[in-house]
Amino acid sequence: MPVPGDRSRLAKIGEDWEVLEGVIQEFMGEKSALNPVIGRCKDGIVLIDTGAPGTFGQLENSLLKLGFGIEEIKMVVITHYHFDHVGNLMEIAMRNKNARILMGKNDIPYYAGDKVPEEEAVDEKELRKYFPNFKKSDLDGAAKDEDISYSPDLELLSRIEPVEEDLSVIDVPGEMRIVATPGHTPGHLSVYLQELKALVAGDLMMYWKGNFSGPIRTFSSDPETADESVRKVSTFEIDKLIGYHGSPFFGNVNSMINEYLSNI
Ligand SMILES: [Zn+2]
Repeated sequence: MPVPGDRSRLAKIGEDWEVLEGVIQEFMGEKSALNPVIGRCKDGIVLIDTGAPGTFGQLENSLLKLGFGIEEIKMVVITHYHFDHVGNLMEIAMRNKNARILMGKNDIPYYAGDKVPEEEAVDEKELRKYFPNFKKSDLDGAAKDEDISYSPDLELLSRIEPVEEDLSVIDVPGEMRIVATPGHTPGHLSVYLQELKALVAGDLMMYWKGNFSGPIRTFSSDPETADESVRKVSTFEIDKLIGYHGSPFFGNVNSMINEYLSNI
């Protein structure tokens, strides 16, 4: 019998969609699960986000447990270019030359290293809310992780299909729609599975330690635009929220979003 709050009970989003379990990140003094999502499609799978650098083995094992190898990935959707989302993309692209790779158009120059994000003003009070044990030196950690082990080469960059506007993905069950939700990064994307009323939200929103949260402002390039993106998805019917961080939340997501919007 699953116990309430049991994460495995929430891993299943629908018949063809689930959250991958076992991809773990250590960040800002917290060890926590990341939530890449897979969807079964004709002859393979769709993968949404790939894990942090150094977690390729975890990602591969999680897929194998569900009966899939890296070569069965037909499409990778990257919600945004941050290291914990693209960490295994290079490895996947090397092992699987046929997978389509989709990324927000405005994020590609940052992923390629052609643009460098502006220095973020660090709001320590905000960060303590999420990561009570973080040390100031942890903030440099992310930047140090930007080493060649997951930096894209030209071949990978040439394979990335830029997403500029909302688009429906056919040949995938669940009525998958990629939705432009900029603000956390300039090209941030979310995925809405209309049939399942599920939003795979990347870092636009999350359910973290029992609370709904919008984008972490300190890590967002344009928090006001991110809030506009929250407003945009608030018009969708959502009863499953799968943020990349924290736990999946199944319940009345729209009311949580509306409460958030009324307080900003
Ligand atoms: Zn993230």
